[in-house]
Amino acid sequence: MTRSRRHVPVLVIGSGLAGCAAALTIADSGCEVLLINAGDRLSDGNSHLAQGGIIYRAEPAPGKNDQRALAADILVAGHKWNSTKAVRHLCRQGAHCVDEMLVRRARVPFDRNSDGSFHLTREGGHCAPRILHCADYSGRAIMEGLEALVTVHPRITLLHGRAAIDLLTSRHHAKNSQHRYDVNNRCLGAYVLNMQTGEPETILADWTVLATGGVGQIFLHSTNTRGCVGTGVAMAFRAGVDLSNLEFMQFHPTALYEERSNRRSLITEAMRGEGARLLDHTGHAFMRDYDPRGDLAPRDVVSQAMMDKMLHSDAPCLFLDVSGVTQDLPTRFPTVYEKCREAGIDILREPIPVVPAAHYFCGGILTDTRGRTSLRGLYAVGECACTGLHGANRLASTSLLEALVWGMSCGKDLARRIPLESGLPAALVAAIPDWQHEGDERHDDPALVAQDWANIRNTMWNYVGIARTHARLRRAFEDMRNLVRHIHDFYKRTPISRRLVDLFHGSQTAYIITQAALRNRTSIGCHRRVD
Ligand SMILES: Cc1cc2nc3c(=O)[nH]c(=O)nc-3n(C[C@H](O)[C@H](O)[C@H](O)COP(=O)(O)OP(=O)(O)OC[C@H]3O[C@@H](n4cnc5c(N)ncnc54)[C@H](O)[C@@H]3O)c2cc1C
Repeated sequence: MTRSRRHVPVLVIGSGLAGCAAALTIADSGCEVLLINAGDRLSDGNSHLAQGGIIYRAEPAPGKNDQRALAADILVAGHKWNSTKAVRHLCRQGAHCVDEMLVRRARVPFDRNSDGSFHLTREGGHCAPRILHCADYSGRAIMEGLEALVTVHPRITLLHGRAAIDLLTSRHHAKNSQHRYDVNNRCLGAYVLNMQTGEPETILADWTVLATGGVGQIFLHSTNTRGCVGTGVAMAFRAGVDLSNLEFMQFHPTALYEERSNRRSLITEAMRGEGARLLDHTGHAFMRDYDPRGDLAPRDVVSQAMMDKMLHSDAPCLFLDVSGVTQDLPTRFPTVYEKCREAGIDILREPIPVVPAAHYFCGGILTDTRGRTSLRGLYAVGECACTGLHGANRLASTSLLEALVWGMSCGKDLARRIPLESGLPAALVAAIPDWQHEGDERHDDPALVAQDWANIRNTMWNYVGIARTHARLRRAFEDMRNLVRHIHDFYKRTPISRRLVDLFHGSQTAYIITQAALRNRTSIGCHRRVD
């Protein structure tokens, strides 16, 4: 086989918390794993950005009572749209997984009290303090611990700069036409763009795990990293895999507004909890005009009020006045203080420009509690998956735990299966062609890509955003359908590149989310219909 074609037992796509947890668990069982990501370093996803922390167990209510209380909180946040099986799985396994992988193995330095016990914090929607954290950089600390394990593991090969283009399936890709008649379609790996050589590679895999993270970057304002365009969801959709809950996109009310970028740094809710107030462009504190709880109303109420204000005043952003916070700002909120300073804002003297932003995707590729999808040979874990845990809305700090628990559950399931089930038959491997180059250099026009992204992001923000109506969704659906058609055409005529791959994935993700939102006429959780 050439360097651009390889056959591995397990391919894991995405190296965030979910991908690393899966790769480590599988490799520990003695199996070789190829772990790839699109960035130039391991921590290029949302896992690295997490501030608040990860759910552990409440003190002093250990055991079954605590698991029941956590389940109740998750169900309330999710409007009981959740899968009770998934909720039970997380509540039973969560603390063990944290102990096993993060505390004992990765030695993540979670904050501790003076007596050596963990310092647990409480977030909105939780009935008790149960969240482990490292100041306000919990994700970075977790990923540093995992990176130290992954990079030295003898059975994990880590390749950066590999952007997955498409999943390979027996029905869609095998040259031997007989495979088209086989009802048991099977995932065979992926075509991947090597960004160092600019060449597509064929990675055949007996088992493939998608861990490609969220979708936030298809919206105008997002807290997510650049690569979060729904890669896994789009590839699974094209391969005919079952998807679920796609209309449930969670928005965060306060993200730092900077004109030069659409990647927004999170401004923690704790600031409003400690006395900060939202102001409009005239300096009026408007939240009480919308809700008697004012600035402390729930996330979705605040986001919707902000959106209403911005639409009616034509303002690009609003402001968070932090002068009422009595604590020392640089000590209490070091990450926010530093991010604002980098953006040229001195929070000791001026309000912070803020906008709501697309934050967390509750839907995705439908999986069971082991991460298995509806396509043989394919698993999905982390934010790209829909386990049903979150239902119609996510409880704060459950997503890191979901990524960890399902990453490890998928790893354990594969460790059991691999010795028992045969890999891909040689004839099937031989029937998969390499990527065909068809593009013509003259069609590679960055202006078209930039304009298409502007269309997608504005359409999703204004019509499929925080407040949805049938008219807005219908218009978005028609616009996105046309755009996807144009982009598909453009994709076929243009040489493959990272920006083209991202645009292709992002446009399809936007289209299927719009379609799901249009279909669901009920206002529930983070899918808010205001008509
Ligand atoms: C600002 C912020 C703060 C947050 N705070 C918290 C918190 O305090 N607690 C909590 O529980 N949750 C928090 N979350 C949510 C949580 O961080 C994510 O849900 C979780 O980290 C997702 O992990 P993941 O492994 O699924 O994806 P990610 O960590 O996003 O990793 C995705 C991986 O997929 C790779 N990838 C993407 N596309 C491709 C492609 N085409 N080819 C190859 N690789 C690809 C990327 O390179 C990356 O390695 C926060 C999110 C944000 C944005």
